[in-house]
Amino acid sequence: MVDKYITEPPQDIKVLTEAEVVVVGGGPGGHSAAVAAARNGAKTVLVERYGHLGGMATGGIVIQIPHMSDGSEEQQIAGLTQEWIDRLDPIGGVLVPRRSEIGSTDEKLVSYWRRFMGNTNKGRIEYTAWVDPELLKCVLNDMVEEAGIKLLLHSWGTRAIAEDGVVKGVIFESKSGRQAVMGKVIIDGTGDGDLLPSAGAEWEGGFDPSLRSSMLALVFRIGNCDYQKYCDFRENDPDKAQSLMSKMTEVAGTRLLPLPSPRNDVMWVNNWIPNLDNLNVEHLTELEVSMRRMMRKGFDFMKKNIPGFENSFILDTASQTGTRGGRRVIGETRISDEDIKGGKQYQDTIAVIPRMGPPQESPGKYVNIPYRCLVPVKTEGLLVAGRSFSSDGAANNMANLIPHCIAMGQAAGVAAAIAVKEGIQPRQVDYRKLQEKLLDQDVPLPGIEPAKVTS
Ligand SMILES: Cc1cc2nc3c(=O)[nH]c(=O)nc-3n(C[C@H](O)[C@H](O)[C@H](O)COP(=O)(O)OP(=O)(O)OC[C@H]3O[C@@H](n4cnc5c(N)ncnc54)[C@H](O)[C@@H]3O)c2cc1C
Repeated sequence: MVDKYITEPPQDIKVLTEAEVVVVGGGPGGHSAAVAAARNGAKTVLVERYGHLGGMATGGIVIQIPHMSDGSEEQQIAGLTQEWIDRLDPIGGVLVPRRSEIGSTDEKLVSYWRRFMGNTNKGRIEYTAWVDPELLKCVLNDMVEEAGIKLLLHSWGTRAIAEDGVVKGVIFESKSGRQAVMGKVIIDGTGDGDLLPSAGAEWEGGFDPSLRSSMLALVFRIGNCDYQKYCDFRENDPDKAQSLMSKMTEVAGTRLLPLPSPRNDVMWVNNWIPNLDNLNVEHLTELEVSMRRMMRKGFDFMKKNIPGFENSFILDTASQTGTRGGRRVIGETRISDEDIKGGKQYQDTIAVIPRMGPPQESPGKYVNIPYRCLVPVKTEGLLVAGRSFSSDGAANNMANLIPHCIAMGQAAGVAAAIAVKEGIQPRQVDYRKLQEKLLDQDVPLPGIEPAKVTS
């Protein structure tokens, strides 16, 4: 069919509110950006399309926050990620080793944590957390309320308002109709980079079937199961476990991977559905329908055949489709796979990411994330926070995990607040001031000394 178009008539749009920093998308990147901007003095609005915050970490039921340390005794990711953990811990919302246990070789500890993926690294304790998505939604609301952020839920950001290359606000749709929020710095925290085209920002992205980031998912949870019993079975009879998992893949038509949660009787099931584009509504629809079919077939097999699932049931499915990639901004610095493999260092590093595997096996100790990969080339008034940072597909694939996105969000929020305070564009923010503030806010930046820039 030939493409057909209609022209939408112009209309006046009500400006609901004005702020200094407007963040669209309340996932790990966007939520952290909003909290950091508000805590650093900016009047902040957060616009989120669903009725809760947390993005993939809550609505997507991606409840593993991995690799905050690299197997050594050092913790590389803290800041707002650590705050999530500290707030979840007293309310029973997280399963995580103690900070004092990071890097430990204690045999009892290692043998306990070995059963949880990503909690041990060659016989040492690695810092990975498993979170309760419902309690996390509550914690994230608390953080927003305490920071004095104006929150707009059920609000879908549809367009950036841009004039002469400067982004000045956002149009969003909700049950109240089409409205606008104006701001001095706009942060795209949608994960998919939804604002980039209308902002006039350059971006890249698309399919690369060889990458994890090109695979969609519909995560689901299983209740009334027994994780430790399932682990016993895998340890005692690995061949049979392997053959049953292969059979389940065959029956379901896709690989299903049960993973732990903070509760022994609840697991989440990860999956990887190839060849679907997360920016194509028909593909998203196909995913939701076909994956539910595969889930039922796989779950029936699991319940009948795999120890630990005998009395289980499907607890829920993710309200947010599992999208691992999306649009990636073309930023002032673009991180490539070679940069990561070569351990490239940046003057404006705002986060470090532990390597997966002992540091001595890689040329550079950490993956460095520079501030300038959040700053679009040319477009003013705009930053990105989260997985749409400037990178090639392979680098994005490696560095878009939840703690990485929280760290990038925290930096974007602090930078936006500095820009507002100084009346400058985000690209003009002095990275040394940004680093100084991040260091003050519990963000580990190994090798970077507080600059103590005045003025
Ligand atoms: C199945 C799966 C398994 C994964 N496994 C892991 C894992 O084990 N550990 C890990 O750390 N990472 C994992 N990841 C990656 C990680 O979850 C994401 O990369 C990370 O959540 C990205 O954070 P973000 O804030 O950029 O985007 P998101 O988490 O996607 O959050 C984006 C937010 O913006 C909102 N939003 C989107 N568009 C709009 C709009 N137009 N208007 C308003 N709001 C909007 C969304 O509702 C959401 O709240 C996995 C991802 C998937 C899909």
